[in-house]
Amino acid sequence: MKPYLVGLDLAGRRVVVVGAGTVAQRRLPRLIAAGAEVLLVAPKATPAVEAMATAGELHWDVRGYADGDLEDAWYALACTSDPVINAAVAAEAQRRRVFCVRADDATGGSAVTAATGDHEGLLIGVLAGRRPRRSAAVRDALIDALRTGVVDDAPDAEDHVPTPGVALVGAGPGDPDLITVRGRRLLARADVVLADRLAPRELLDELGAHVTVIDAAKVPYGRAMAQEQINAQLIEHAKAGRFVVRLKGGDPYVFGRGFEEVLACTAAGVPVTVVPGITSAISVPAAVGIPVTHRAVAHEFVVVSGHVAPDDPTSLVDWPALGRLRGTLVLLMAVERIGVFADALVTHGRAPDTPVAVVADGTLRSERVVRSTLAEVAAAIAAEGIRPPAIVVIGPVVALGAP
Ligand code: SAH
Repeated sequence: MKPYLVGLDLAGRRVVVVGAGTVAQRRLPRLIAAGAEVLLVAPKATPAVEAMATAGELHWDVRGYADGDLEDAWYALACTSDPVINAAVAAEAQRRRVFCVRADDATGGSAVTAATGDHEGLLIGVLAGRRPRRSAAVRDALIDALRTGVVDDAPDAEDHVPTPGVALVGAGPGDPDLITVRGRRLLARADVVLADRLAPRELLDELGAHVTVIDAAKVPYGRAMAQEQINAQLIEHAKAGRFVVRLKGGDPYVFGRGFEEVLACTAAGVPVTVVPGITSAISVPAAVGIPVTHRAVAHEFVVVSGHVAPDDPTSLVDWPALGRLRGTLVLLMAVERIGVFADALVTHGRAPDTPVAVVADGTLRSERVVRSTLAEVAAAIAAEGIRPPAIVVIGPVVALGAP
């Protein structure tokens, strides 16, 4: 077969699928997404296919194939595990001049399924003869290249004007692989990147030479002024027509002052896109084998900032309530004052032998874990010389043991 690659408009058109095993299961979602009116003929189906029928996404005739089933079909797929049935479907399709894919024998049908993928309205189909692994690999590589910006999908097209504005992107806990696909794609398009101290350095190394990288940690002035300076720079670059990525550690809205930056940009008339990130509060414990919840062990987890002490008048944290908690407590920015927080929790009812883990530089090569108890954690991390950034996890989940 020397196939001719084409795009079919299946919306509202009948597509007959014979067989409801794993092959059909893989093909059906795209047929449904294309708006096809799917008639499925099979005596039994996988649970996933059955769920599609229950949800009304296709019509399932619970029986074996019979000649005549392809009546009114525009397209057919023979996906049973029985070559005799598939051959009969293909023969009926031939008679009725309906294009038909034969899952067990590509040359026995009149059509073949391309390995497909989509990216922002771009649909890619790859056919590699009878080498499905090759077509899938090429499809994956192309989609990956488009998503990460390695391949630009419109270098000369008139719609490729630089997008001014700001994207507030959560970069994940530290390992450069833990940024989201969307975050990475936007990063690849940046003209200017304003990066946090906790944003993974490796991500910045990948940027082109034309990209201006501003290190937020090196912005002069004191703490409060520094934030104003950051906001001012975001606005200034965006107003000059550049696409600015504000790269933040973890998730931009978890103790990252992200929303302040959104408010500042919005007030200045600069459009902002927010891309959530994998927060260190959940992922750093996970990286060392600690689940923040576990059935019958912890039905809650609370993430708390250790930025100010419990007796600080600006504190908004209800430490007595946290002391009564049975579940998991995750403290961020708490290394310097860990002794004070541990004391407050014990004073308000948490057992002194409650397990505690402190994870510094989570997901990075320099990652370190110290396991202790509420009563002893302050001394333990002092002895180990643990420095920020570190996550403190408190509760019975810590004692479950790494897998
Ligand atoms: N927005 C970030 C948190 C910013 S507050 C997020 O969602 O992860 C900064 C604190 O996050 C640090 O003091 C530390 O407590 C924690 N943190 C961030 N990255 C970390 C990492 N890789 N390992 C341990 N703790 C981390």
